[in-house]
Amino acid sequence: MWIPEKIADVDFPDDVSVRSYEGALNVILPNLWLSHDGLIFGLATGAVVRLIAPLLQDKATDPAVVVVDEAGKFVISLCGGHQGGGDRLTQTISHCLNAAPILTGAVNRSALPGVDVLGQPFGWHKGSGDWTGVAAAIARSEPVQVIQEAGSDLWQHQLPSDHSLQLGWPEISSSPPEQPSPQARIWISPIRRRFAPHSNMPKVQWHPRVLWVGIGCERGTSQALMEDAIASTFQSRHLATEAIAGIATLDIKGDEIGLQQLCRDHNWPIRYFSAEDLRVVPVPRPSGAVQQAVGTPSVAEAAATLAALQSSALLNLSDKNDLSSSEPLLCTAKQIFRQPNQRGAVTLAIAQAEREFTDRIGHLSLVGIGPGSLSQITPAAKAAISQADAVIGYGLYIDLIRPLFRPGQIVESMPITQEQQRAERAIALADWGLNVAVISSGDCGIYGMAGLVLETLQARNWNGRQPTVETLPGISALQAAAARIGAPLMHDFCAISLSDLLTPWTVIEKRLHAAATADFVVALYNPRSQKRIEQIAIAQRIFAQHRQPNTPVAIVRSVYRPEEAIVLTTVTDMLSYPIDMLTTVIIGNRSTRIYGNTVITPRGYGVEG
Ligand code: SAH
Repeated sequence: MWIPEKIADVDFPDDVSVRSYEGALNVILPNLWLSHDGLIFGLATGAVVRLIAPLLQDKATDPAVVVVDEAGKFVISLCGGHQGGGDRLTQTISHCLNAAPILTGAVNRSALPGVDVLGQPFGWHKGSGDWTGVAAAIARSEPVQVIQEAGSDLWQHQLPSDHSLQLGWPEISSSPPEQPSPQARIWISPIRRRFAPHSNMPKVQWHPRVLWVGIGCERGTSQALMEDAIASTFQSRHLATEAIAGIATLDIKGDEIGLQQLCRDHNWPIRYFSAEDLRVVPVPRPSGAVQQAVGTPSVAEAAATLAALQSSALLNLSDKNDLSSSEPLLCTAKQIFRQPNQRGAVTLAIAQAEREFTDRIGHLSLVGIGPGSLSQITPAAKAAISQADAVIGYGLYIDLIRPLFRPGQIVESMPITQEQQRAERAIALADWGLNVAVISSGDCGIYGMAGLVLETLQARNWNGRQPTVETLPGISALQAAAARIGAPLMHDFCAISLSDLLTPWTVIEKRLHAAATADFVVALYNPRSQKRIEQIAIAQRIFAQHRQPNTPVAIVRSVYRPEEAIVLTTVTDMLSYPIDMLTTVIIGNRSTRIYGNTVITPRGYGVEG
């Protein structure tokens, strides 16, 4: 954080790094402009506009510029809204400050993802095109044709129902006659299209990184020869080098300097395979000489194929049963390159993966969204939800937080019973590189998804770093219910879930007895479902045995939701009122009392306790 020197003696919390500047801000701003992804100004918008005007270059490279008013009521996404990430940053800050986000881009009106950020979650590379022209056509709700030949189509499932995109895979890409003729076109493909410079129709192209380049080479082959081989193969096949996912080769090439340098310069990962792995891959052009030299009849073709299969998660290398279908993955059979003035020789083949390489380390946020109202979600949880590429949760909870979603965010709701599937899906997306928020009602770690996700990760030998995981606490039902009825949890308390789906009933019953005898205040979760009706009656009998008949009981249903209903009753009468899966039942201890509409458990038992 930068502040003017004249107020540098103001105290800030220790964890805020504060630096002061002398004189005018416009002296230091040019450097900050170049070194930062986003700049947040606490100044008048007019002053910010004047400050940044000389620095603005191009929306593809400019940082995000966000302005927060002095009172912290508004957060304005001033520029760099899409590619600079300004809109996302604005939403995150506004959640943290509880302020109103001001987003004025056309995307926000149309609820469509910006065409210039469409492929960002999936690591696609932007190709050439008239990005402003296509964005303008979308903003005018004109028909825009999308031809997607590769890469994830998850984004397509998130479009608002009234969108004006004409979606189609290649076979059906020619618009049926009843569709209005498109005014712009988006290509999503590993192929590089050359757009006619004077065409009236604006077009853009995204390149998902689906191409694995298999390389075999003589020892000491120069980087330049490899560069030439890749450039000429891609050009002759009309493929985009932006669509390269990475390089695949034989493991003994780990010290091949030209190859290493090539990958470093282009930021390409290298996948190494042993001769043993490569040997079993059926390839169009096996070579006896290569077999003699390195123990596999193919390096380039086999390595490209294996990398493509692995990247699509179709293949676990310990299970090589079915490689027979791998041949069609190759988009080019191997070619050998030599040049008179270059050292060595390189063999090159290209295989296309079904799934793109994102080049991102995924992240899982395990988020508790509180009992139901947006006002009861922590700012950190809101920020995690708005930052996520994908949000996964049970349908009812997804609906509760719908206002927090951004256009283009992947939102997947699943039925209540599919917790394990939800966990697996979230992990699969995070493994692939996405930032995924898994949401639970209340707190994520109290009968929520957090444990399940962590258990599933552990079962897969998670290394603790890929994906990264953060748990964001939420207000649990027992806290929310308690707050609405007074202060029933002021003395020792516990929570018991009456659901015997995952815990044997004998264990639950034992805990009910223990809690009842030990005089805990108890919050009963999952008290009764349509099929499970006996458990709450048994619980009532147990507590009636150990507590006075008039011990206060609160039946709190859908707390902090529009349908909220609260009944204060006693342990004797509690079964006379409706109790269901949206209810938490709080049973008082021996000193809990009702005063008007308020339940109070004294902090201690007093002298006689
Ligand atoms: N993770 C959640 C609990 C999920 S188990 C939390 O920390 O609150 C589901 C049970 O939680 C429900 O059967 C009900 O007993 C309780 N519950 C969740 N939301 C509730 C609400 N808004 N009002 C009352 N009870 C609620």
